[in-house]
Amino acid sequence: MPTHILNDVSLSSSTLFQIDTLILTPEFALICEVKNIAGELSITENPPQLLRIAENGQFSGFPSPIAQLTNTCQLFEDWLTLQNITLPVIGCVVLAYPKQRLSIFKTDVHVLFPSIIPQYVRSLYKGQPLLSCEEFENLSKLLVKQHRPFSPKPIASTYSIDPDNFLTGVACPSCNLVGMIKSGRFWNCPRCKTRSTTAHQRSIQEWFLLFEGPLTNAECRRFCRVQCSQFTRRTLLNMKLTPVGATKNRGYVK
Ligand SMILES: [Zn+2]
Repeated sequence: MPTHILNDVSLSSSTLFQIDTLILTPEFALICEVKNIAGELSITENPPQLLRIAENGQFSGFPSPIAQLTNTCQLFEDWLTLQNITLPVIGCVVLAYPKQRLSIFKTDVHVLFPSIIPQYVRSLYKGQPLLSCEEFENLSKLLVKQHRPFSPKPIASTYSIDPDNFLTGVACPSCNLVGMIKSGRFWNCPRCKTRSTTAHQRSIQEWFLLFEGPLTNAECRRFCRVQCSQFTRRTLLNMKLTPVGATKNRGYVK
């Protein structure tokens, strides 16, 4: 059976989405949601979360890979429909670290270690291709053609870095010192004396590279070391970020 394996595929259907690994065959498409998070893991259904206890006992929470996978499968099915292609889409979660301890709620979704994937893929074949060789090759070409650059996965979850390990504060646009001091409208650099009214906006953009949204007002104040929630709210709106959620727990997404 011809098989193509594509990594980090970014496509757009109703929204932009990214597939960690796509295993494409004329019978099915298998989407692998890959997690590189070390430690003892548990995936909960309600709320959908991935909780991790690191070796040093530290506790962190991440978005549920099952919920992410369900969403990605749906978006890829929509994408196939837009191309007039009928192909079953199957999803699985892959834990990059073997020998990892995991507890998970009862679900039909397979959670696999990398070494099991070939065996799992073989078990999915039924010998009934839905695409001809030509259609299959055309689909692969189309995927490559429609691939578009996508903002990378947040660094903190990709590399399992605890949010508390990042320096907080606004960086100086001239000398990059983290820890500009706000005085009135201005951010002042204690080292090179640069003044800026917009330095905090770069910190907010960087927050989205580091963490998964939505960004709340409180988290923004923590990260930029700002006290005024009105100032923070105005900034988030001025930056054309989209508010999501009820007033009390409102967050902003890009
Ligand atoms: Zn400076």
